Amino acid sequence: MLRSANCGDLRLSDADSEVTLAGWVGRRRDHGGIIFLDLRDRSGVVQVVFNPDPLAGSGLSPESAHTAEELRQEWVVQVKGHVRQRPAGSENPAMGTGDIEVMASDVAVLNRSLTPPFYIADDAGADESLRLRYRYLDLRRPAMQQNLILRHRVVKYIRDFLDAQGFLEIETPILIKSTPEGARDFLVPSRLQPGSFYALPQSPQQLKQLLMVSGVERYFQIARCFRDEDMRADRQPEFTQLDLEMSFVDQEDVLSLTEELYTGMIETVAPDKKLRKPFPRLTHAEAMARYASDKPDLRFGLEMTDVTAMASETEFRVFHSVIDSGGCIKGFVAPGLAAYTTSQVRELDAFAREAGAGGLAHIRYRGTGPVAEQNEEEVLQSSGLRMPAEWHGRLAAKMGAGPGDMVLLMAGPSHRANVWLNAMRNHIAELLELADPNELAFAFVTDFPLFEWNEDANRWDSSHHPFTSPADGEEGLLDGDDLGAIRSKAYDLVCNGSELASGSIRIHQRELQEKIFSILGYSREDVGERFRQILEAFEYGAPPHGGIAPGIDRLVAILAGTSSIRDVIAFPKTQSGTDLLFNSPAEVAPSQLRELSIRVTD
Ligand code: ASP
Repeated sequence: MLRSANCGDLRLSDADSEVTLAGWVGRRRDHGGIIFLDLRDRSGVVQVVFNPDPLAGSGLSPESAHTAEELRQEWVVQVKGHVRQRPAGSENPAMGTGDIEVMASDVAVLNRSLTPPFYIADDAGADESLRLRYRYLDLRRPAMQQNLILRHRVVKYIRDFLDAQGFLEIETPILIKSTPEGARDFLVPSRLQPGSFYALPQSPQQLKQLLMVSGVERYFQIARCFRDEDMRADRQPEFTQLDLEMSFVDQEDVLSLTEELYTGMIETVAPDKKLRKPFPRLTHAEAMARYASDKPDLRFGLEMTDVTAMASETEFRVFHSVIDSGGCIKGFVAPGLAAYTTSQVRELDAFAREAGAGGLAHIRYRGTGPVAEQNEEEVLQSSGLRMPAEWHGRLAAKMGAGPGDMVLLMAGPSHRANVWLNAMRNHIAELLELADPNELAFAFVTDFPLFEWNEDANRWDSSHHPFTSPADGEEGLLDGDDLGAIRSKAYDLVCNGSELASGSIRIHQRELQEKIFSILGYSREDVGERFRQILEAFEYGAPPHGGIAPGIDRLVAILAGTSSIRDVIAFPKTQSGTDLLFNSPAEVAPSQLRELSIRVTD
């Protein structure tokens, strides 16, 4: 070994020992011939002192004193020296090693470095494209190293936990065939079979179900998934899921295993986080009604109330036209916001319009007494909502508003109104700083609809994926004409407003699976071509089974307290799917294309 200790591990208890360290040169200060430098390795940073004065007694050789003067940022060095307690008053409580320093006796340069394009420190503030272009330097920053370590610990916890629960880790192919999760496939041309293509898995969904037919019973994999989507903020074309599947289980078994896994993992790797246990469970219908979202942030309340019936008592034309076309009027109470000025309300209205809404109706209860007794001057109403005190009393009681509060209402077709209200709810929570950044508010959302109507394509899509089982007793509805009303055995795990995992109890009978494919508009040939393997397998004793797939990237980002999943992926791609380090995707040699029988057209 080139070293006897790690820089960041040294403590006061190591004082008076001799150590050999190796690492990178960080900050360097020259104080009248005495050189102080921060030496950094993965474990952290320690201060090294080069004092050429023989009276200082550090035994620094003249050659080493000379070398120390030449050292520059990010050079790789080996330092031998003596650990000593720092002189009183020069301790640095911000550093783990801040009580000691290393008095160098020798230094050897193991490698030099060009001046890095940005300073290697957490507060360097370098532009992200520069960081990604020099990712190997960016990853040297202590915060990024912590993220890599955290990710390792999360995955290690998962492996150990599932191993103890009898799961087998099994690899499934990356070169495979299209398996739908609602995205576009990445295709890989075959050289040996010109004109044929592999698809990279959008998830190992069919493979893990086939493993259940094989009798594996409990499978998991830290699985890379590939989805060629137009990249929305903070998505990656390849990402990692903990993919798991279990036989002979019902929904409750999958959810309780997931909850045990998450709580144990977070208590182990991020014990400072606040968790609410047990995880609340909401049906999809309940989540939409109460929070206008299927991934509600439960760190705060701001619950919705449907006031369509009361709104019909007003003279407000917008409300009436929405009600006449089957829409709803729904909203929530913004606590304490009655004091908002007209221009502040206008900003909220602008936010609502940006989110797509036609506008925002608001009522400010400015008086101090009960709402039902407030007079017109105390109640600041939005236009069209001039209603008697009695009506306001009823509205406030229904919505839970009190003096000092503002009521916010939006009107529209319910699926749209929910989108706007969800945006507004999160916006108000942000303005009022209602979400505790240290809390992880998990919840399971269950009973998703089996299908959702795709307006653009004019057809039904699976809400989850085609392999999801309808709810018990609802298979009969598949022959009816209200397909949107059929519930499924699909569930999500959500946390702080993000979806962290999706799963379902699966279909395991051929006939039912074929019926779902036909509702989704797959032709017979298409089904035969794409799904032969799983349909056939269902005819050879497929056990009842189900599973879930928690995303690893988002989870680690939340635990690391970063808003970008790119910060917890060693080599991520940009928003446009580019790897700036390797500069990929890139053109390939014409000879490679010829081998693949591929011609690139304009
Ligand atoms: N394959 C699903 C997904 O990737 C997860 C599951 O149903 O287990 O979302």
